[in-house]
Amino acid sequence: MEGVAPTICPHGLAPATCQICRVLEPTVLPAPGPGRRPGRGGAGLTANLAGLAVLVVVGFVVFGWVLAAFFAVLRILELVAVAAVAGWAGFKLGVRRGRRQT
Ligand SMILES: [Zn+2]
Repeated sequence: MEGVAPTICPHGLAPATCQICRVLEPTVLPAPGPGRRPGRGGAGLTANLAGLAVLVVVGFVVFGWVLAAFFAVLRILELVAVAAVAGWAGFKLGVRRGRRQT
């Protein structure tokens, strides 16, 4: 195998996209401007997509929590409603019996 391109890092990836190279040798990449900004263009898009994916996952988790809480409240409301109906029925039965007896 000949022709080892200099654009391929030892990890078999392009230095611009290799996270290992970025972590181990941050000076290899041309740093545009002050501060450590993760690459340009495509890397930024990738970061945006990763952030979007994280947002979607977090949103789904929060949505699941909200749904679980909603159903828990619904179940409690159902129990309370059943208890109220049962109590009301018993109360009315007792009132009827009382009226009949008196
Ligand atoms: Zn590498």
